[in-house]
Amino acid sequence: ETEKPWLALYPGETAKNVYYKAETLPQLLRNAAKEYPKHKAIHFMGKELTFKQTFEKASNLAAYLQEIGITKGDRVAVMLPNIPQTVISFYAIMLAGAIVVPVNPLYKEREIEFILNDSGAKAIITLDILYNRVKSVQEMTSVEQILVTSISEFLPFPKNLFYPFIQKKEYGYIPSVKHEGNTHLLKNIWSLPTADLKEVSIDFEEDLAIIQYTGGTTGFPKGVMLTHQNLVANTSMCRQWLYKLEKGKEKLLAIMPLFHVYGMMTVLVLSVMEIYQMILLPKFDATTALKTIEKQKPTVFPGAPTIYIGLLNHPDINKYDLSSIDAAISGSAPLPKEIIDRFEEKTGGKLVEGYGLTEASPVTHVNFVWDHEIVKGSIGVPWPGTDAAVFSPETGEELPHGEIGELAVKGPQVMKGYWNNPDETELVLKDGWLYTGDLCYMDERGYFYIVDRKKDTIIASGFNIYPREVEEVLYEHPAVQEAAVVGVKDSYRGETVKAFIVLKEGAQTSEDELNKYMRERIASFKVPRIYEFRKELPKSAIGKILRRELKENGTEEGR
Ligand code: AMP
Repeated sequence: ETEKPWLALYPGETAKNVYYKAETLPQLLRNAAKEYPKHKAIHFMGKELTFKQTFEKASNLAAYLQEIGITKGDRVAVMLPNIPQTVISFYAIMLAGAIVVPVNPLYKEREIEFILNDSGAKAIITLDILYNRVKSVQEMTSVEQILVTSISEFLPFPKNLFYPFIQKKEYGYIPSVKHEGNTHLLKNIWSLPTADLKEVSIDFEEDLAIIQYTGGTTGFPKGVMLTHQNLVANTSMCRQWLYKLEKGKEKLLAIMPLFHVYGMMTVLVLSVMEIYQMILLPKFDATTALKTIEKQKPTVFPGAPTIYIGLLNHPDINKYDLSSIDAAISGSAPLPKEIIDRFEEKTGGKLVEGYGLTEASPVTHVNFVWDHEIVKGSIGVPWPGTDAAVFSPETGEELPHGEIGELAVKGPQVMKGYWNNPDETELVLKDGWLYTGDLCYMDERGYFYIVDRKKDTIIASGFNIYPREVEEVLYEHPAVQEAAVVGVKDSYRGETVKAFIVLKEGAQTSEDELNKYMRERIASFKVPRIYEFRKELPKSAIGKILRRELKENGTEEGR
């Protein structure tokens, strides 16, 4: 038994166990509607829905799904941005006993086709403006039914009337989809009588709530199977960790997409478990986000580094009152230290870094918001009921603190496996541990530090270089807004370090100046040999900089 020093940091026994009832996600919504019917569940551009209304609309849609042939275990895809219909659809699908397959609405035909086929989805719920894209691939997939909604459906009057014209400006046309054949308009379905919903029994531990496709910075997309227990356990860990928040009193800012499990857990599930209101923003736009924070006063704000960076660099940030925010949790990519300080200064709230991956529903580690100082540069300690260890990639042995190896985690939030892919599952689930593919070390207090992804490590002239370390230093440069470092082929060193830089608005610097700056701060073998200045960097839907894409398009020879 190795030492687990983080256990001593939590009050009492909180670190050892996570406490939750075996209640499925639709059950949680049903309870919320019964016990807190009038509490606000959703805020969307001025319109509000209570928990009772949300449950009723989800039940109506669930009954309709059953009527068109959806039964237990079927997969139903949802391709929507953060709008009320997303919340309703997720819960409706689960109420009908089916499994949600979230699809990023920015995906193109090829990506949509892959997910629909791989998951064997029988139906898809999407937007009128995305209908043509879905329809064009339907024949190549197993999808029988397409259910269509529109952003304007849950907008307050008169915004709902103006919305089609905004769409015309944005997309060049006003979509008009007809209810016919296997194409269903959801408009009237929200208000059908609920009586005919057939109860489906769901096994809390065994049955899947979602199949979440993950690709992002890793290889080929795979479907991660997450059960009701996985998601409820992870959300309960969150609740135990944020123990000072009050049931029924908080508001969640939902900028993170609900089609990624990070947004799903921190918003969609936490909200119904703890009766928090979700403030939905359909896409990230810094001005809208700042205005919404000032007006709606969210207290909890899950996000990613690029979102906090985007807000803090907004030219008018000082004009907005952001003081409602108590806790902001940053995940999905390394959080530059400087951003933590600036965030605290502007909002008075705490910004803490956490870590997770889709395969763990997703969170496994976070810094403390209260009780302990924030350890900048660290992902914090394992969540209650979560175990973690560092294994040597060479020998497979567990490593003592201070040594770099692969992070592995264990806990009730760890996925059942990859959908239809036992070979890939075997590679990552071993002896009860989930191997994350991330390199890290733990300090003597039990705080973990991500060094990099196993396969992002650059090897130049035999030296290991972790891009993250170089990026951290670049972020400290006053002119740098964003930085990404990759290895590119080099005939002499094997690989060499290349940095992609986005400058802050109005800021200037040169390759020579950056080079000098870097040489003063890190070992010369780590200093980028090539710099490329860009207006923006390619990012995933949740704001993760796509190093792989930069690498593929940045293979010019080094000097
Ligand atoms: P995804 O499954 O798309 O959420 O991606 C999970 C991956 O994101 C992890 O395996 C890490 O490589 C990366 N990641 C998440 N959080 C952090 C963090 N705080 N620091 C560094 N990398 C992170």
